Amino acid sequence: MGQVKQWMFDKEHEDDLKDFLSQLMDRSELEGAIEGITKFLLDKGFNSLSDKQKYVLENFAENYASDHECERCGNGNVAELTDHIYISENSLCPMCEYDREKFMRD
Ligand SMILES: [Zn+2]
Repeated sequence: MGQVKQWMFDKEHEDDLKDFLSQLMDRSELEGAIEGITKFLLDKGFNSLSDKQKYVLENFAENYASDHECERCGNGNVAELTDHIYISENSLCPMCEYDREKFMRD
C-alpha cells in the first residue's frame, strides 16, 4: 500500500484523512499520540502539523486500512479512508455492500 504516501499533500486526501480521523475521534477509537495529533489537526489544520506528525497520521491510516480489508474486493473498490470505518462494521466496503443488497433483491 504505497498509495497513501503518494497522496500525502493532496488536498482531497487531506480532507479524506481529516474526515476519517474525526469520525474515529467521535467513536473514541483514537488514543495516545494519534488522538493528540488529531485534536491539533481538527483545531489548527494540516498546515500546522509537522512532517513527523503528518507521517504518524498517514501511517496510522495506512495500518487501519490494511487491518480493515473488504472481504469481497480486498479494498479494490475502496475510494476513501472513511470506507474502512464502514468495513470495520460490515466486513464489506460500501460498494460491495450495495452490490450484495442488489443481488439479494433480484
Ligand atoms: Zn469491497
